Parts: sequence; structure tokens; C-alpha cells
Amino acid sequence: MLKGMITCSSCRRKLVANVVRGRLQYRCRMKDEYPGLDHPRSLSVREDQLLPTIDRWLAQLFDEDHIDETVSSLAKVESNDINTAEEMAARRTIKECDKRIANFETALGVTDDADTITGFARQIERTRAERKNAELRLRRLTTGKGLTEDEIRAVVQSLADAVELLAAASPQDRRRVYEAAQLEVLYDHENRRAQLSVAPRVTGGVGGGT
Ligand SMILES: [Zn+2]
Repeated sequence: MLKGMITCSSCRRKLVANVVRGRLQYRCRMKDEYPGLDHPRSLSVREDQLLPTIDRWLAQLFDEDHIDETVSSLAKVESNDINTAEEMAARRTIKECDKRIANFETALGVTDDADTITGFARQIERTRAERKNAELRLRRLTTGKGLTEDEIRAVVQSLADAVELLAAASPQDRRRVYEAAQLEVLYDHENRRAQLSVAPRVTGGVGGGT
């Protein structure tokens, strides 16, 4: 149920699910390619040990006393422009492409040589394609942003309803709730601690349907 959601705090790799004596557990094995890392040869945590902690935490996160706080902290993340670095890179690429295109066009205007003209034309075409890509990337990064607090509240409320039913949920439904909440578990083997985080997706509901 937690496949792909648990990260090993020592080596930052995803824990791998496997079954030992009929029990599902998640394991991280020390790889030879990470020498010098403070990491046991193999560490593992049982799913049935993690689930109660996770469900208790989720229930608390979305209960009446905490839901306002959850909404406002998610609203803060939303307005903080998580992708700022990527966005800036895309904007920079667009600007650079514009400059290059302008330069090629200027150069085109002062030559009569057919081969040179073809060469520049091709360069311009290539740069336009690059610019288009950056534009698409930028659009993808910026859509879904700027959600109002009401919209975030609606998403959180639907998660809260789903979380309430977790105890009785089938494994598939449970997995769906975790996925919708974008649950992430950072497992610290040394201290036997699991650090949990969620970030409800903006689109795609939770619960209902199969
Ligand atoms: Zn590890």
C-alpha cells in the first residue's frame, strides 16, 4: 500500500516492498556504490507497524481542531511558488532564444550568400523550437497555481472525508487516499522514526469511483 512512498533517510532511495513470512515489509539494502555512508547492510520496516502511525497522523491533520491550520499551511505552500527555480530557468531560456533569433535575423539581413542564408534559417527554426519547448514547460509549471483558499479548503475537505473512512477502507481505497494526499514517508531506521508529509493534489478527487 505504501509502495514508492517511503524514502530511506540515510541514502535517500525508495524502500522496496517485499514479503517476509507472510508480512509485507519495506527494505533498503546497502549498495556497494555508496561506500562510507552510515547505513546498515539492510534495513527494513513492517507495513503493519507504519500504517497505524500514518492513519493516526492523517486523522489528526484533518480533524476539526486542525483542519484550518492544515488549509492555511497548504495555502502558504501554494503561494510560495514551489517551482520558482524551474520557472525562472524556463523564462530565461525564452529570453535567450528571443535574443538569438533577433541576432540571426540581423545577420540574415546583411548576407547574400545562399548557403549562409540557409544556415541561418535553420538556426532560427531550431531556436524557435527550443523557445516553444520552454514556453510549454513554463505553462505546465504555472497552471494550477494561485488556487484560492476556498479551493484548497474544498480539496482538503474531500481528503478529510476520505481519511475518516480509512479504518474500514480496502487496501486499494487506502492506497488511493494516500496517493491523493501525496503521502510521503521519510523513514529513519536509526531512530525508528517515520517523518510524514502530505501535499494534496489540486486536480483529481479522492474517494468515490473505483
Ligand atoms: Zn537506505
